[in-house]
Amino acid sequence: MRYCIVGAGFSGAVIARALAEAGQKVLVIDERGTAGGNCHSERDADTGVMVHVYGPHIFHTGNERVWDYVQKFGDWVPYNHRVQAVAGGRVFSLPVNLLTINQFFNRVMSPDEARAFIAAQAQKIAEPQNFEEQALSMIGPDLYRAFFRGYTRKQWGVEPTELPASILKRLPVRFTYEDSYFAHPHQAMPRDGYTEVVKAILDVPGVEVRLSTRFEDLDESFAHVIFSGPIDRYFNYEFGRLGYRTLDFERFTHKGDFQGTAVLNYCDEDVPFTRITEHKHFAPWERDKFEGSVLYREFSRLCGPEDIPYYPIRQTNEEAMLRKYVERAKATPGVSFVGRLGSYRYLDMDVTIAEALDASDRMIAAIREGQSLPAFFVEPLGA
Ligand SMILES: Cc1cc2nc3c(=O)[nH]c(=O)nc-3n(C[C@H](O)[C@H](O)[C@H](O)COP(=O)(O)OP(=O)(O)OC[C@H]3O[C@@H](n4cnc5c(N)ncnc54)[C@H](O)[C@@H]3O)c2cc1C
Repeated sequence: MRYCIVGAGFSGAVIARALAEAGQKVLVIDERGTAGGNCHSERDADTGVMVHVYGPHIFHTGNERVWDYVQKFGDWVPYNHRVQAVAGGRVFSLPVNLLTINQFFNRVMSPDEARAFIAAQAQKIAEPQNFEEQALSMIGPDLYRAFFRGYTRKQWGVEPTELPASILKRLPVRFTYEDSYFAHPHQAMPRDGYTEVVKAILDVPGVEVRLSTRFEDLDESFAHVIFSGPIDRYFNYEFGRLGYRTLDFERFTHKGDFQGTAVLNYCDEDVPFTRITEHKHFAPWERDKFEGSVLYREFSRLCGPEDIPYYPIRQTNEEAMLRKYVERAKATPGVSFVGRLGSYRYLDMDVTIAEALDASDRMIAAIREGQSLPAFFVEPLGA
């Protein structure tokens, strides 16, 4: 009997290929009409620009195994992601760095002067109890209100006082002019888009891909199911729905260049969207050949039953519900849960691929030993 993999995103594709290369037969299904999962990218019909359909995706990693792996399935162009932010009617550099601090306070401070200045702004809170207190104890009220408070409320729809302090583990400020958004040594964009990379991963003898197919509508028996869809959905929401934030993208076009960069954040609360993405800036190598430009205004809200789940909320209630699903999954033979939705965690693409490669190694070893496969290869609730 063959294996069934639900979801043709990075998780499903990487595992499907590994199983096929180990001699297994695999059926990969996805209810969407495209491969790539939430990383799906396609050319915009009006402008020709490559669009990240489910929100901006920048590949970045320090994992050499993952970096070597993705090289095999497409041409990757180095891309250094930089983000600017609009706050109080002015444009600043993000993440908050020495340029941001000097611009914001209208000063010319050296790194040491800025460090002392921010330390003086920071409030003395012995044991910060939530996100807001943590931020105030690290950067003080002015930077917090300008760059973190409104944006966090728009993104998460809750008061920053209701979010855990642990979200801000490290000082969210750099005392240099380094403005690269990510610190990883490898940062790149796939020349032909993410979907072509995922299709290339899936292009191997032994793998059948069936798109526009819901798992719930399949009537076949499998050796084992590897499920990268939402874990609560697999169990028909029997313990309730795990909370997610969803995103609405308001598409608009522009002639020429609208904002001069790929991502511009909007921190003020009176602006209802969180950011605007101008997709052609993700492809500097081809950007100038497009006369038109396509952009997404991004709005965040609570995910309803018909919406696409984007960011797991993972507050106390969700953790308790997740625990029930995890126990249920462990008591259910014949299915393993993988990926961002299967384990209800935010995972970057490189972590997704790393986990899928590791899960594949363990699956293949277990199959060779004649052992059954576990419900999880990474504990969704932590070790
Ligand atoms: C807004 C946003 C921006 C992001 N930006 C970045 C970034 O810049 N860099 C980065 O590294 N990562 C980024 N990520 C993370 C990235 O999207 C994930 O790492 C990646 O999508 C995880 O892949 P996956 O295969 O686990 O899940 P998915 O890509 O979600 O794939 C799961 C697939 O399963 C299918 N499916 C679900 N249930 C069923 C069912 N019952 N039957 C049939 N099919 C089903 C779905 O249609 C979906 O295609 C971002 C995520 C979000 C939400």
